[in-house]
Amino acid sequence: MPSRPFRDLAHNSSVHSLGEISRPGTEESRVLEFVCIRCGVSYPADITIDSKGCARCRETAPANLRPVYADPAAHPLESATPSRSLWRFAHMLPCNAADAVSLGEGLTPLLAAPRIGAVLGVPNLAIKDEGRNPTWSHKDRFSTVAVSVARARGATTVATASSGNAGASLAAYAPEPG
Ligand SMILES: [Zn+2]
Repeated sequence: MPSRPFRDLAHNSSVHSLGEISRPGTEESRVLEFVCIRCGVSYPADITIDSKGCARCRETAPANLRPVYADPAAHPLESATPSRSLWRFAHMLPCNAADAVSLGEGLTPLLAAPRIGAVLGVPNLAIKDEGRNPTWSHKDRFSTVAVSVARARGATTVATASSGNAGASLAAYAPEPG
């Protein structure tokens, strides 16, 4: 299947207007809280996420926060939907599929690579073709979640540090909310 330029996918039907969103941290959210990956302190699910990470660790050794999900034991495939994007796993993401800013990312193919596998001594080697994503990068997986959550939290601007494809990806997703 040939990949399509992201602009062809820009009006995906899963994109909704700002008035239809719900905020993470409500009863519909799967994120119960955020926890610092270094010191373990917890923050409420509706905390304003910025680039500064854990407030307690900020001055000494900046650390990211990780979400704590309502049902971390569930297998990702158990409740997957027929969606044609990674939002088929919305039950494992911090935002509802109905609120997603999606360009059709994910569901990229695994391509068999028997000749390379033979050289490397890896039987049944397969290569995940992430070039099939809307901006030809696996960074689209990040961008769809980041922009969806940012919009749900009322953000009007997103920014990232990037040496290339992450910035291009975020730029493709950021205009979608309107
Ligand atoms: Zn901390």
